[in-house]
Amino acid sequence: MTDNLSEDDRLILDAIGKWLNQKVKPVAMRLEHDDEYPHDLVEDMKELGLFGAIIDEEYGGLGLSASTYSRVVTLIAEEWMSLSGIFNSHLMMATIVQKFGTQRQKEYWLPKFATGEIRGGLALTEPNAGTDLQAITTRAKRVGDKYVVEGAKTWISNAIQGNCVALLVKTDPSAEPRYQGMSMLITQTKTAPDTDDHLPGVRNGKKLEKLGYKGIDSGELIYNDYECSADLSLVGGEEGKGFYMATGGLEIGRINVAARSVGIAKRALRESVAYAQSRKTMGKPISEHQAIQLKLGEMAAKTRAAELLVEDAARLFDLGQRVDMEAGMAKYFASEAALYCATEAMRIHGGYGYSKEYPIERLFRDAPLMCIGEGTNEMQRIIIAKQLVKRNPV
Ligand SMILES: Cc1cc2nc3c(=O)[nH]c(=O)nc-3n(C[C@H](O)[C@H](O)[C@H](O)COP(=O)(O)OP(=O)(O)OC[C@H]3O[C@@H](n4cnc5c(N)ncnc54)[C@H](O)[C@@H]3O)c2cc1C
Repeated sequence: MTDNLSEDDRLILDAIGKWLNQKVKPVAMRLEHDDEYPHDLVEDMKELGLFGAIIDEEYGGLGLSASTYSRVVTLIAEEWMSLSGIFNSHLMMATIVQKFGTQRQKEYWLPKFATGEIRGGLALTEPNAGTDLQAITTRAKRVGDKYVVEGAKTWISNAIQGNCVALLVKTDPSAEPRYQGMSMLITQTKTAPDTDDHLPGVRNGKKLEKLGYKGIDSGELIYNDYECSADLSLVGGEEGKGFYMATGGLEIGRINVAARSVGIAKRALRESVAYAQSRKTMGKPISEHQAIQLKLGEMAAKTRAAELLVEDAARLFDLGQRVDMEAGMAKYFASEAALYCATEAMRIHGGYGYSKEYPIERLFRDAPLMCIGEGTNEMQRIIIAKQLVKRNPV
């Protein structure tokens, strides 16, 4: 869909479409199966401006609207979802600076984030704190004009190949309520991405092996006496705001996971529609068997509904509205649609769905992550319900 797009947005989507066809399609399957980091594709992504996709133009980004950004994400996820994680997690870090940072922080970090000279992600999760973020124990102590950080994060996308993260910490561990003692620091971990040149006081733990989402690294970060400048690192220059930055402030993160989910669902549907017409049983294409038609019909309806929910959330976001509920609905529905469509695509493809020669098994492994990332789907429904009650008081 390219309706309501400016000429510039259209050109960007066209360029990405060509790149996906020419450069990504031929290598995605091999890189994914080998769990190999796509260094060459990341260089292309820098040139395409993807690391600055939603960073304002005054800081060197493309300044895309959420509507266009979500289409870019869907397009890329349709070819290889892992690639979208490499720039989306990075852009969550950038969004925190752009939305909540001081002027000096924006001027210092955003141009480097936009080019991909500094790349990274968002480090919230710890071994004993995922959904319950207020239970984190990573501690940052103010010492003069610096913070000294101790603690460990896990499951962090881009923790190994990247060189910077937005780090959720406790600056006042005894605060009550707990969220008031939480702050966000931008911490550079290495001199440059794609190196092992760690800054003093921070190192990577193990690279985590996972079911899907291959190619992109998910890793641990361990801070021990790590020092960073308070002026550049403490986002917004004020302690106690980190929890809000990590949760309420990142509706765009949910729109992005929803958009990735639409990509997975669309690919599962596309592959299934084609396969169902070419595979014959009992003398006719399986697309003529009602059992398969029921699956295709359900997949098509869910995919389109998911796409429309994403468009709706992105449109309202672009109008400057608070969209916790809409982004939550899009994320919840689209990720469940992706999981449904990937599973049905597997059945439609029969034994070939289980084969590594077809992309279906990859969609089947990638889809469940969409139900976990950016707030699990259990939490999304709770967020939707709370917003619903708040917006409709009796
Ligand atoms: C591939 C991958 C990449 C990731 N990337 C990142 C990243 O870049 N940065 C980052 O910070 N984290 C990342 N994560 C971590 C992810 O955000 C967490 O896994 C997620 O938030 C869930 O936390 P948890 O795994 O600790 O599960 P838990 O919080 O232990 O939840 C377990 C189950 O209990 C349910 N549950 C928990 N609390 C409640 C409640 N109050 N009410 C109802 N149900 C509840 C959950 O929905 C879930 O079903 C990543 C994870 C994966 C798998």
